[in-house]
Amino acid sequence: RNIVVAIDGPSGSGKSTVARAAATDLGWHLLDTGSVYRALTWFAGRRGVDTADQDAVVALLPDFFRGWELSVLPEERWVRVDGVDVTDAIRTTEISSLVSNVATNLAVRKAVNERFRELLFGDDAPGIIAEGRDITTVVAPDAPVRILLTADESARIRRRLAEKAGDDAAAVAASVAERDARDSTVVTFTTAADGVVTLDTTELDLDQSIAAVIDLIRE
Ligand code: C5P
Repeated sequence: RNIVVAIDGPSGSGKSTVARAAATDLGWHLLDTGSVYRALTWFAGRRGVDTADQDAVVALLPDFFRGWELSVLPEERWVRVDGVDVTDAIRTTEISSLVSNVATNLAVRKAVNERFRELLFGDDAPGIIAEGRDITTVVAPDAPVRILLTADESARIRRRLAEKAGDDAAAVAASVAERDARDSTVVTFTTAADGVVTLDTTELDLDQSIAAVIDLIRE
């Protein structure tokens, strides 16, 4: 049976980069759960569906999953929908501002979580790291390793800015804070649930964060 590692954290906590690097080092697979909410948001736009219309988004799910493909190879980061490579298109400011509409849709979460579990427990690598907002609590609460990555808000905004060179600092700060606040209405990812290890990366650089995660996995 494969090992499932669950990593949650808010935007800019470093969880995506750290989870990907740790999976690469271990020769494991990676499940980027946020990319699925993002890809569904993109798909709604393509179909002309308002993301705020919860029933309409739910109705898209069968078509979405039929055309959805996601790489679980950490060194190969891509997402496709109906054969279209949306890897970059799902990272725009527009998608980031709309994605909470889709992620706060409880019927969507239920369907998406079922897919995540199938993928995680049916995966053929020795281990898989799943990262998101509710992996430690809802998707894989029984995972043998569960980690909450945190960092002070100022550190998180700095990291997001470094990723989006050229963007306006105040706008990035506002969008990070706003998205976390909206996401927090349906998922708890700022305080660790019982049995979840908190790893505060405020004072850690990337390599130190990756090493700390790998240490926790090896323990
Ligand atoms: O991690 P990332 O920023 O790509 O996630 C995008 C969005 O997807 C989050 O802001 C959140 O709304 C949603 N999400 C979620 N649950 C997860 C992963 C992501 O609600 N497990």
